[in-house]
Amino acid sequence: MKTKKLLITSAFLAFAFSGASFAAEPVKELNLYSARHYQTDEALYTDFTKKTGIKINRIEADDNGILERIKSEGDKSQADVILLVDAARLWRAQMHNFFAPVKSKYLDERIPQNLRAAADAKGTPWFGFSTRARVIVYNKATVKRSDVDTYEKLANPDNKGKVCTRSGSHPYMLSLVGALIERDGLTATEEWAKGMVANMARSPRGGDTDQIKAVASGECGVTLANSYYFARMMQSDKSDDMTAISKVGFIWPNQNAGGVHINISGGGMARNAPHPQEAIQFLEYLASDSAQEYFSNGNNEWPAVPSVKVDNPALKSLGGFQAEKVSVAAIAKNQIAAQKLLDQAGYK
Ligand code: FE
Repeated sequence: MKTKKLLITSAFLAFAFSGASFAAEPVKELNLYSARHYQTDEALYTDFTKKTGIKINRIEADDNGILERIKSEGDKSQADVILLVDAARLWRAQMHNFFAPVKSKYLDERIPQNLRAAADAKGTPWFGFSTRARVIVYNKATVKRSDVDTYEKLANPDNKGKVCTRSGSHPYMLSLVGALIERDGLTATEEWAKGMVANMARSPRGGDTDQIKAVASGECGVTLANSYYFARMMQSDKSDDMTAISKVGFIWPNQNAGGVHINISGGGMARNAPHPQEAIQFLEYLASDSAQEYFSNGNNEWPAVPSVKVDNPALKSLGGFQAEKVSVAAIAKNQIAAQKLLDQAGYK
């Protein structure tokens, strides 16, 4: 009887003690609003918590969902770090004043200047953490490779009835057009958009994977896709994906003509971050060697930090390429001009 009472007492004491230590040392945490959700990202967050003791509370949605949520939360937003996909969306977040100033020598040193937006008038920067390329995919039976090996050639009259793309208001298209405005000038890009509209095999619809499949089936002759969609299909063991990949050719566009268009996924610290120190710690962690590898390879992308290499057989098999020299910040600034130009051309 006495033993039992003692046991209860010690159990109670242990409970009281753990409660006391909990109160004395509050849990360090971080609220992450992320439009990225890959299985490998999971391992990344666990590793960060293990290294720093900072618990990550995740709010996940697609890019529009994240942007809408932060907008509706306003000044009460609990977001510490915002991760988005494509410079077009990071720019949108910046225009909505969603980001906070970040001073980090480490981030400035690690992330190349062309893959981030320097602090604007409000002092708010954002950073790219992985890169992707916008490539050309064509049907090997119906299209000659040399007829479609630059973005500009897709708008040539000889490609009438062959071109498919996703919607002209999608960020991937807006960013590409933003890049072309930088590279070829506004007038030439306006003409390009008209040529593209005249060449459509069908009205723009679907995502990048749908375009690749439509090219494989012969409904379209040529399309644009982000590199990771192609790499993902290459690695698929589904028979329809394998058949599709066998029918299409892959092109690094504009080699020796300005390079392939490069975009990013990235993020920044949120304007009202309740845990600013933890937020910067997390952003810096994302730029570290091990996190860079995980973050990029998980979605068949490339690390933003140039010294970090990934071992991805699918990407390796596509060979080396020349990337565009335009900065993602310059591309992002052309969003409104890009949308206007596409609307005027009747790009759906
Ligand atoms: Fe995507």
